[in-house]
Amino acid sequence: MTSQTAPKAHTPSSDQIRRAPKVLLHDHLDGGLRPGTIVELAHESGYSGLPETDPGKLGLWFQEAADSGSLERYLETFSHTVAVMQTRDALVRVARECAEDLAEDGVVYAEVRYAPEQHLEGGLTLEEVVEAVNEGFREGERIARENGHRIRVGALLTAMRHAARSLEIAELANSYRDLGVVGFDIAGAEAGHPPTRHLDAFEYLKRENNHFTIHAGEAFGLPSIWQALQWCGADRLGHGVRIIDDIRVRDDGSVELGRLASYVRDKRIPLELCPSSNLQTGAADSYEAHPIGLLRRLHFRATVNTDNRLMSHTSMSQEFEHLVEAFGYTLDDMQWFSVNAMKSSFIPFDERLAMINDVIKPGYAELKSEWLFRQTGSTSGSPGESD
Ligand SMILES: [Zn+2]
Repeated sequence: MTSQTAPKAHTPSSDQIRRAPKVLLHDHLDGGLRPGTIVELAHESGYSGLPETDPGKLGLWFQEAADSGSLERYLETFSHTVAVMQTRDALVRVARECAEDLAEDGVVYAEVRYAPEQHLEGGLTLEEVVEAVNEGFREGERIARENGHRIRVGALLTAMRHAARSLEIAELANSYRDLGVVGFDIAGAEAGHPPTRHLDAFEYLKRENNHFTIHAGEAFGLPSIWQALQWCGADRLGHGVRIIDDIRVRDDGSVELGRLASYVRDKRIPLELCPSSNLQTGAADSYEAHPIGLLRRLHFRATVNTDNRLMSHTSMSQEFEHLVEAFGYTLDDMQWFSVNAMKSSFIPFDERLAMINDVIKPGYAELKSEWLFRQTGSTSGSPGESD
């Protein structure tokens, strides 16, 4: 029996997963700091609230707090990261390292979001916050390029659901359009804070022909998704994983979609799915049981995302590792998710197309061809996990 059948050869090794061109649409800037950076920034700014000052222990603390199942502890994690992101220099550094880390992980295009209103405690204006983060992303892109990686990072400006500044933040996003900001988002606890409270912001953006996504259908189910789409007009759904509640799988394996699930699939509404984050918040019990398997099978516009790399101790490669293991995904599946994400990004159509045709597809073709050459030599390089 040969172990080198074609489908198996396309099962990616860890190294291939990392090198594969990946596209990230849902990642929070304040959820992706390096633990060592938090410690140093806390020291520089005199912030004494950190639960640990050793980077290794601090990283573990974040993960445990996020794993604890307690919403209070989960939210506390962000109070520490936001606390050390209150100066221009800190924001530049965090954004720069974010771009560097994503590039190192094989991400070629990312939309990273943050809430400018949460970074004003050190006296910065909203505009100064946006400009600092943009500067950091540009620096990170440049450093990545010097290290042989190519990445483009766009910013999404987030307004908080419980606050009343959404129109102001939407206007900010619009004024920095074409200057590094590619869209707008609403985040924060879904319970008690329906997105319809921010209709003026969404209507403003629609009148400006601008793009936005809304965190919906994570903790809350179908009504939240329905509101985000049919009242607010969201281009994409942040999570949207609860759309699964409108899909019935019968005992014989046949599937029935409700009206809302049909609409989401028919209209190709992108779902910014975040598997590891969903496991931590209880939206799914295991990777194998995560709705992404069914949604991919049914050809929803599903994308794979990290949400909060620090709190979930994850990366894009890590997310794909879990999915490859849970669902037996191949490089073709990875490419499908990556093309889906690129199609769903907020940059202009011609640039999306160029990313797909000139970066993503050639990248996967290159990886898929590797098994051919590995077969021919006796010294086949790293063993990986492909055999
Ligand atoms: Zn999120």
